[in-house]
Amino acid sequence: MTMVTTTCSLCRTDVTLDFENLSHDEAVERLRKLDKKAMECPGMHVEMGGWYKRWKLDEALRAAYPDHYTNGA
Ligand SMILES: [Zn+2]
Repeated sequence: MTMVTTTCSLCRTDVTLDFENLSHDEAVERLRKLDKKAMECPGMHVEMGGWYKRWKLDEALRAAYPDHYTNGA
């Protein structure tokens, strides 16, 4: 189980992401879908998408799967 905390760049609320036992590629796929979804941030604002950038999910992926990003990959 891999949990990563990131911060919403819009409201500065901490957001905890649970990657469960997903592989890196599965996690990327899930975040891509999430990015297109209309939903509510834990900071109580609803957005039509754009979570990838707003929640700095590229950094969250690096934190959750450090092995995937070593060796300059
Ligand atoms: Zn927010």
